[in-house]
Amino acid sequence: MVDFLNLRRVNAPHEAALEAAQLRVLRSGWYILGEETAAFEAEFASYCGVRHCIGVANGLDALVLILRGLDIGAGDEVIVPANTFIATWLAVCQVGARPVPVDPRPGTGNLDPDQLQAALTPRTRAVMPVHLYGQPAEMDAISAFAARHKLHVIEDAAQAHGARHRGTRVGGLGVAAGFSFYPGKNLGALGDGGAVTTNDDELAQRIRTLRNYGSRAKYRHEVIGVNSRLDELQAAMLRAKLPALDGENAARARLAAQYMKGLADVAVELPTIAAHCEPVWHLFVVQVDDRARVQQELSARGIGTMIHYPIACHRQPAFAGQTWPALPASERLQDRILSLPISPVHTPQEIDTVIAALAQIAGPRRGTPA
Ligand SMILES: *Cc1c(COP(=O)(O)O)cnc(C)c1O
Repeated sequence: MVDFLNLRRVNAPHEAALEAAQLRVLRSGWYILGEETAAFEAEFASYCGVRHCIGVANGLDALVLILRGLDIGAGDEVIVPANTFIATWLAVCQVGARPVPVDPRPGTGNLDPDQLQAALTPRTRAVMPVHLYGQPAEMDAISAFAARHKLHVIEDAAQAHGARHRGTRVGGLGVAAGFSFYPGKNLGALGDGGAVTTNDDELAQRIRTLRNYGSRAKYRHEVIGVNSRLDELQAAMLRAKLPALDGENAARARLAAQYMKGLADVAVELPTIAAHCEPVWHLFVVQVDDRARVQQELSARGIGTMIHYPIACHRQPAFAGQTWPALPASERLQDRILSLPISPVHTPQEIDTVIAALAQIAGPRRGTPA
């Protein structure tokens, strides 16, 4: 029996720190935009190596507020991956702009920079790469393309807290980045939470104002803002867990390496790691033929798996009736991908159980001596 993800187990090592943090907030008598949020913002900015972090209500809002802060809206287009969690697309739609999808590289699942040119129009304002499954996107090629065409690069870093590209952490690789602290993310709260990181002083100030009713001074409203704040309780939870993040990401990396080695001769396609990238393995996603059977047989052995994501965004009912370019790579991926159990608290024995089961179910890799 191997759970896909057990959040009770993930949070158990933090129990004492979380309990102390909860009590501290309770007794402080201050629950919104106080010392905990300010301290977390400083600590997470420092962790990411950026000048500013602004705590917001969730990851979707982080992306929306970046777009609003950059004045991207009606009539504008933003290039996005076709294969991502729907929030990437919804952020673009929420500000009235249009998501323009591109296909991924099949090995990493990350946005293929060679497809950017075909997606470019005079209305394009930004590219929003997602560091999918915890692996940084191909930022060199994306940034070069964006610079050539005067586009903003907005990172969707919701799955990649701590991942590095050329030694630099995500969060500071574009004009701004959106993070999510949804409980299942690598840095997860005990509820919803999110953050924007940026090195742009003016953009940071605009987003700070937007997230709090368009207000910098109480009861003076400069712009039409929203209520999207990271609350004190969640900020305190995140402060309790942040010091352990690098250690937990290292544990994920060890389990990923174990999968890579253990599945080398099995008939599954392993994820590839792009040049200059240090992934944080939010998910470990393989590709298999006959996925329904593989998933069902793993389940029969008590092994939990998931599919991230079974329907590419342009195929979602929410976007029915709109015309999209041909996106064969994402459509092929959506039918082949399978996320295997991984988390900081899975044991090497559990991963061995998954490897042994997959070896039986999928059989040996073709061309491999039996
Ligand atoms: C989780 C996630 C989001 C949204 O985060 P929420 O906090 O759930 O709003 C955005 N983009 C990606 C790629 C995600 O995985």
